[in-house]
Amino acid sequence: MLLSCTLFVAFAFLAPQEADVAAEVRKAVSQDRLRQTVRELVDLGPRMGGTQSGTRAAEYLKKRFADLDLQVQTIDDSELATFEPREWKVTARQGDRVVELQSAWPYLFSPAFELEEIEILALGSPTDERAKGRAVLAKGHVARGYARWAASEAKVILCAYPDDPESNPTWTPVFRLRARDGAAPVPVFGISHQDAERLRSLLETGAVQLSASLRAEIGKGRPRTVVAEIPGRDRKRFLLFCAHGDSDGGGPGADDNASGEAVVVEIATVWKQLLDAGVLKQPAVSVKFAIWGAEIHSTRHFLETEQGAAERIVAVINYDQAGTGAERDAVYVEPDDVEANKPIVAAFHRVLKRHHEQTGFWGEYASNKSLGGTDSYVFQSERATGGRIVPAVTVFSSAWGRPTRVEPTPGIEQPGWKGKPDEIVVDYSRVYHASGDTPENTTELEPANLERCTLAGMLGALEYLTHR
Ligand SMILES: [Zn+2]
Repeated sequence: MLLSCTLFVAFAFLAPQEADVAAEVRKAVSQDRLRQTVRELVDLGPRMGGTQSGTRAAEYLKKRFADLDLQVQTIDDSELATFEPREWKVTARQGDRVVELQSAWPYLFSPAFELEEIEILALGSPTDERAKGRAVLAKGHVARGYARWAASEAKVILCAYPDDPESNPTWTPVFRLRARDGAAPVPVFGISHQDAERLRSLLETGAVQLSASLRAEIGKGRPRTVVAEIPGRDRKRFLLFCAHGDSDGGGPGADDNASGEAVVVEIATVWKQLLDAGVLKQPAVSVKFAIWGAEIHSTRHFLETEQGAAERIVAVINYDQAGTGAERDAVYVEPDDVEANKPIVAAFHRVLKRHHEQTGFWGEYASNKSLGGTDSYVFQSERATGGRIVPAVTVFSSAWGRPTRVEPTPGIEQPGWKGKPDEIVVDYSRVYHASGDTPENTTELEPANLERCTLAGMLGALEYLTHR
């Protein structure tokens, strides 16, 4: 009798407290601030690791964390090949008609050049001898068959791939030309389907001259990683929130991954604010916030150089693509099929279920099996960690540029999934690694994703730290 009374009192005491904290977190998260962080990061440029815009972004983030009175550290990671496009222009002319191809965006590692008034032809094959010395509007996936296109001795190549009114109406995907340690031999610009149509209709009526230029820097650089800390009672061990800070696709990178960065900064902001207000107590272990200078590369560097990091990390909560969702309004957590992740995935499921369909939270959620391809997986690679599989999840609203269908992981209930029960559909971004990955097309269009991913991660972390 006494026991059950005590239990009752304990529960009665505990439950409202958790609800209060969640309500305070909900109040403190600012959608406007999240959106603004994305816009400010995108304004700095593509932010690829080791480039000037990458370093500017690191300085911006350092200031954001320092403004919160957090201890901030920067790490210059090991060197990698860098590409930074600065300015470019592509214009077609036929007699008095001048058409500026505003969608043009350089493929990664296109060399700098300047060309005035050169004939452009629409060609289907790189072996067509007319390509030599001319500008080419090429058919197909130029980045994939690049070696042959480069051998064509064309002066510049425009590529509208996938050239589809649905996939790339007004923007272009941005691909990497295979030239890891230097410039690719021939510059390639992606253009939108609409610009390709305009160019083709011009070519139907006569000869077209192309003027084009690209100012770009190719070299080597060291990505800069920023790490901030809220000290815990035990400072040796820490929970890590993180996101890659580079637009690894080479476009504006609003969803991939200014959205993830914004969420990490927002969680740091809210956590510190609630700590100062006495709503949250000093955490049992430190809470760290890392923005990686370059995806995967910097994470590996961190594990190699940070003394005993893999042993000291309690859990990793990574963000990648938290700013859009092409077909659904869901929050996802992955991977749920790794043994070491069971307690943290369970904590996330409790939180996601608790706030399911509450105002300002999520209408749909799911966890899914390992898909790979983002920083959390580095913490689960025995080679990178020296043997330990660190509990590490990624929280997101979209992954890649097409839907991924996976079987639900056995033994995990998915009460928040609204699709078919036998498959989890991982949502995607329509502008993945494309020039269209702008705030207007992602975080400004559906800002609730940022808010939901912030709430899920922060409440998931609190739940995990409290009920581990
Ligand atoms: Zn990413």
